[in-house]
Amino acid sequence: MLLTISTTYSPATDLGYLLHKHPARIQSFGLTFGQAHVFYPEARTEKCTAALLLDVDSVGLTRRPHGQFAENFALAEYVSDRPYVASSFLSVAIARVFSTALSGKCKQRPELVETEIPLKAKLSILPCRGGEKLLRRLFEPLGYTVGAERYMLDPQFPDWGQSRYFTVTLENTCQLSELLTHLYVLIPVLDDEKHYWVGEAEIEKLLKHGSDWLAAHPEQEAIVRRYLKHQRRLTHEALAQLREEDAQETDEVGQAYKEEQIEERISLNEVRLAAVTEVLKTCGAKRVLDLGCGEGKLLRKLLAEKQFEEIVGMDVSHHALKIAQDRLHYDRLPEKQKKRLHLFQGSLGYRDKRLVGYDAAAVIEVIEHLDVPRLMAFERVLFECACPRTVVLTTPNIEYNVKFENLQAGHFRHKDHRFEWTRDEFQSWAAGVAKRFGYTVVFHPIGPEAEDVGSPTQMAVFTR
Ligand code: SAH
Repeated sequence: MLLTISTTYSPATDLGYLLHKHPARIQSFGLTFGQAHVFYPEARTEKCTAALLLDVDSVGLTRRPHGQFAENFALAEYVSDRPYVASSFLSVAIARVFSTALSGKCKQRPELVETEIPLKAKLSILPCRGGEKLLRRLFEPLGYTVGAERYMLDPQFPDWGQSRYFTVTLENTCQLSELLTHLYVLIPVLDDEKHYWVGEAEIEKLLKHGSDWLAAHPEQEAIVRRYLKHQRRLTHEALAQLREEDAQETDEVGQAYKEEQIEERISLNEVRLAAVTEVLKTCGAKRVLDLGCGEGKLLRKLLAEKQFEEIVGMDVSHHALKIAQDRLHYDRLPEKQKKRLHLFQGSLGYRDKRLVGYDAAAVIEVIEHLDVPRLMAFERVLFECACPRTVVLTTPNIEYNVKFENLQAGHFRHKDHRFEWTRDEFQSWAAGVAKRFGYTVVFHPIGPEAEDVGSPTQMAVFTR
């Protein structure tokens, strides 16, 4: 199967920089299911075309122990279309061969990555379950002009009708990384089959590559369902996370700043982070989680402390994680530091094996973003399933709001806050959680204490 990508951007040969593949060379890559070759059929200043030719080892595939693409029907292995059509094999090849371009990086020419350039991709042969209609419904909302040529099942027997195979052209003026990302996600969606087992990790992949465009895509549900191979639980989880992420991101713009102003956050935030870091240090934790890590302010503090051997930042918002990654200069960290830090997308509303086995968890200014059903799910996710020995959790103290001059009466500090609690409310919630899940809990005020209303932030430290 063949994917070509052409541009008429001037100079068109810049495509070589973007793809990290020199136009004058033919390069081959060994993959578990065959070989991928990259070459340029044309490389002129006016027009440049790169080709990714995927040569799937059809014999090797049938010998795989669990017949990766065959159903129980043995003959299916020999009459399968898999070696000849664009499918999840092609997505894997794109991720492997064009990984830097897919992630939108180019050290030598960073400005080029950001540039929208005229691009044309041609795919032969692409199976489309759902036909040309679906093909258009998937790509047109993303700005593509779609061309499709459908093949007969057998030209000698026109009565057999049309096949589901197409040669497809997709034209758009966009960043190359966007085109690659759309292909990476949507090729398997059109094919509606995957050569590998689909599990939780696929949600992460989908959200990683789809977070910027999927939330607003009119076919979001069909895309997620097909990408996750119609597994209802995974589909439900991914859609919920996309919506949560979308809500967080829309809200975050401007809001964080507002909350910062209201709380004079620069100083309060510093005090809060110092208090949390101190608790994590004195409990002797070596491996710590920062859940709802946001833009990574606590992570930065934790990285500076040698005691912490492994630091994990998780957030439902990809956007926040991207900012965290930039602010921590993740790409430029020395290898040793990089190994200590892991950032991943996930939601506190769902059990997650990746959170198990840590000494301590920080949940700083996060619970007030969860609505009641999700807060209840969160309690089990953290205290029952992940169950670190220590949990440090902070939330605003609503009693203190009267002290903020620039906060209107009756308003929360942040538009996305679902609630803000009094000290009594927080303490009775935390005591209930501690009792149900076998923890003890103590409370500390954070920030200046005022008469009658306490301190702006309240902190609970749970220990088991
Ligand atoms: N802990 C950080 C950020 C607090 S803002 C700090 O103190 O600076 C709240 C963060 O919680 C946001 O980044 C938001 O994306 C994240 N969040 C909201 N709901 C979440 C959920 N269900 N799972 C994980 N993170 C969530």
